[in-house]
Amino acid sequence: MTGQYDLVVIGAGIHGAGAAQAAAAVGHSVLVLEQSGVASATSCRSSKLIHGGLRYLESGQFSLVRESLRERDILLRVAPQLVRLVPFHIPVYRHTARRPWQIRAGLSLYAMLGNLRRHAWFAALPRAQWDDLDGLATENLQAVFRYRDAQTDDAALTQAVMRSAQSLGAELVMPGEFLGAKRTVKGYTVRYRTSQGEAESHCMALVNAAGPWINTVLARISPQLPATAIELIQGAHIVLDGPLQRGVYYTEAEDGRAVFVMPWRSMTLVGTTETRFHGDPATAMDGGSAEREAVSEWDFLHWTNAGAVFPPQVRPQTTEVEYLLRTFRHYFPERDARVRDQFAGLRVLPLAEGAVFHRKRETLFPTDAPQQPRLVSICGGKLTGYRATAQKALALLAPALPARIRRGDTRTLQLGP
Ligand SMILES: Cc1cc2nc3c(=O)[nH]c(=O)nc-3n(C[C@H](O)[C@H](O)[C@H](O)COP(=O)(O)OP(=O)(O)OC[C@H]3O[C@@H](n4cnc5c(N)ncnc54)[C@H](O)[C@@H]3O)c2cc1C
Repeated sequence: MTGQYDLVVIGAGIHGAGAAQAAAAVGHSVLVLEQSGVASATSCRSSKLIHGGLRYLESGQFSLVRESLRERDILLRVAPQLVRLVPFHIPVYRHTARRPWQIRAGLSLYAMLGNLRRHAWFAALPRAQWDDLDGLATENLQAVFRYRDAQTDDAALTQAVMRSAQSLGAELVMPGEFLGAKRTVKGYTVRYRTSQGEAESHCMALVNAAGPWINTVLARISPQLPATAIELIQGAHIVLDGPLQRGVYYTEAEDGRAVFVMPWRSMTLVGTTETRFHGDPATAMDGGSAEREAVSEWDFLHWTNAGAVFPPQVRPQTTEVEYLLRTFRHYFPERDARVRDQFAGLRVLPLAEGAVFHRKRETLFPTDAPQQPRLVSICGGKLTGYRATAQKALALLAPALPARIRRGDTRTLQLGP
């Protein structure tokens, strides 16, 4: 198989699907290479929230929150069957670190950044309603705030975005493992493996949307590009028996982190953790041992070598499951806490000092050249902001791409289940 495309996208998680949709919408010819399945990695292991990220206000990330709220509103419009508003509750107990006035101030700011739309309003629930909150513990409870944010099915959303890209002409090769790319005068020659064997295509520009594999992909590009300074942070979830009737609960775990307790397919989803990994994954792949923080005991071996979805090593650890269960039992002591399922994913965060929880969540877009880049990598990001992220990646590549006739606008293209 050979072909000539304006753009080749590596990876069909939410960012690859988003980049393909955005490029196809402005008329580009697009090839997407996905080694295993659409939404088979991080994009099916998130907390499934389409939200502004209330807690990011504490670290002053106002523009991220504003952008996420804007994107949430777009998704509520274009994907009403996939993204829906849900009541969120913040219980404040005598021991809770954030005081009621702080929550009120945060929610007011959140509402303002959401342009004070009708669904941006929040309220303190009257005491008479506290017993009706899915068995939430009421001892020492001082206040419960209710506001609204959105939930989705992350895999279904990603698949819908990918289908939208395909309906605009994007081609998906799956399995299609990216093997390497060589810079040419007019772009890149890309080599990949399909079920029929190896193939080659030419493109004017390349998007590296390989998520946690971002550096594995970069290492396959010639001339050689520097690896991006990132770290991978495992986030685990547990799924418990029994549905929640009233919506999502935003609880404070013993270490002050936020843990969400959420309704999910007639069950209860609890997450997430943040387990940081040290060491060089490449060394681990060669058989060396990566250093890990004491909280995690999982084996990083073979990680960068993973040909398919996450290797079995990416799984919730006993310490993570216990931490989530302890948090759940603390707030819902009477509820069933049988673990039905559990899963973990890896966040890509720019390498930095400090506690992961308080770290800025900006998305980076390293390129192959400061001027007129032909390769951009998407590093980090959120499910919620995938559309804006895709626009930013494409804006960087725009000078290298020819003008085409627009076929659609991602702000209005409908996404169906
Ligand atoms: C625990 C956790 C909870 C989260 N919760 C939320 C949330 O509630 N709300 C929110 O907005 N965001 C959330 N996020 C963030 C969000 O899930 C991620 O930012 C997003 O899913 C990343 O998508 P991606 O496309 O970059 O990566 P991925 O989904 O990992 O996709 C990368 C794809 O690239 C493919 N690939 C890799 N190498 C190759 C190759 N050589 N050839 C071909 N294909 C290749 C992989 O198979 C994979 O399908 C969460 C993240 C985590 C980890």
